[in-house]
Amino acid sequence: MIWNQIESSPQEEIIKLQSKRLIETVQRVYSLTPFYKNKFDELKITPNDIKSIDDISKLPFTKKQDLRDHYPFGLFTVPMSEIVRVHSSSGTTGKPTVVGYTKKDMDIWDEVMARVYTMAGVNQDDVVHNAYGYGLFTGGLGLHNGAEKVGATVIPSSGGFTERQVMLMKDFGATVLASTPSFALHIAEVAAKSGACFKNDFKLKAGVFGAEPTSKGLKEEVSKVWGIDYHEVYGLSEIIGPGVSCSCKHSELLHVFEDHFYPEIIDPKTGEALPDGQRGELVITSLTKQALPIIRYKTGDITSLTRTPCKCGRTMVRMESVVGRVDDMIIINGVNVYPSQVEHVISETDGLSLNYQIIIDKKGHLDQLEILIEINDDIMIDSIGEIEKIKKDIQHNLLTNLYIKTNVKLVEPRSIERSVGKAVRIVDKRK
Ligand SMILES: [Zn+2]
Repeated sequence: MIWNQIESSPQEEIIKLQSKRLIETVQRVYSLTPFYKNKFDELKITPNDIKSIDDISKLPFTKKQDLRDHYPFGLFTVPMSEIVRVHSSSGTTGKPTVVGYTKKDMDIWDEVMARVYTMAGVNQDDVVHNAYGYGLFTGGLGLHNGAEKVGATVIPSSGGFTERQVMLMKDFGATVLASTPSFALHIAEVAAKSGACFKNDFKLKAGVFGAEPTSKGLKEEVSKVWGIDYHEVYGLSEIIGPGVSCSCKHSELLHVFEDHFYPEIIDPKTGEALPDGQRGELVITSLTKQALPIIRYKTGDITSLTRTPCKCGRTMVRMESVVGRVDDMIIINGVNVYPSQVEHVISETDGLSLNYQIIIDKKGHLDQLEILIEINDDIMIDSIGEIEKIKKDIQHNLLTNLYIKTNVKLVEPRSIERSVGKAVRIVDKRK
């Protein structure tokens, strides 16, 4: 089943539509966003220079920092009275990246997520257990609305409380699981411990997984332990949230919904476009968004594109599952974290030096984060209670700023090993 016939339209038709929509988007951002007008002026281009999708390389890039610089609503092109939803993700300076949606934007989001669920074989007879976290992140509500649109029964279970997840999946007869792949394995582990029989106790047939880079091995493990079809969904809040692309049952490549989101691959260093098949940084332009249209957004994700036909009949370009990040971002249980964000939180806590080390490990299938921080040389700490208080404060600040749970260990000055040259800030034992 294919949700929308556009997904299997001839490429020429899609290109025609993309050209029309790009021209509209460029006119919109130029007339409504001083940020883009200035960028166009700097490059000495006007909307008239954009006559088709082939002209896209003339346009400026947008970076995550641009959204932060216009925090919170500076790049919105509609008055707040037309915004019906706001989402956000964490940011390096403590300020999150904020995105907004009009009613029409929400319709598009629901539409692309309906395509995702249909690609995963989900329909009105299904029960979707949604264990993505609900809240400011786009995961929970993104996976929720699309499932409702295809008529499935949605269980908005959200993250955490693994034993309860197992009980609800069994009792409510979940046929589809939506979660991060690592959480799917964790649920399986807890279910196995409780003595559950995967064949008799669960009705699961498919999963829609995403929000973290996933190796082939992990995909196979999730698929095998639950006995289900694995579908990977890709997306990012700056573009729409989950629903930019998804894998069908015929391959691991993800069909990009390119009538709404135009993908390019560039050399991250030079900004030059790279041909199909070659890996580079994924850049996406939104073609239909109202509240926050985005031109050539640098996702920081490394992948490649292919236009070879797919057995499912969909004609839209496919991307490889993301193979890495341009920068050294670390991902902890599906949450993106930059070492610089951690450093910022440490710098704002009294009594601590900036000599620290982040140690990432896996306990079962979940990532564990330990942070060693040296106490400042010149601070007098004379009670265990005081150390405990600093430790609690910083753990709390990391949780509220970056949405990550950590185990902080305060250590003596100069006790973290120094290396020649660049400090070893991250020890990733998961690899
Ligand atoms: Zn396909």
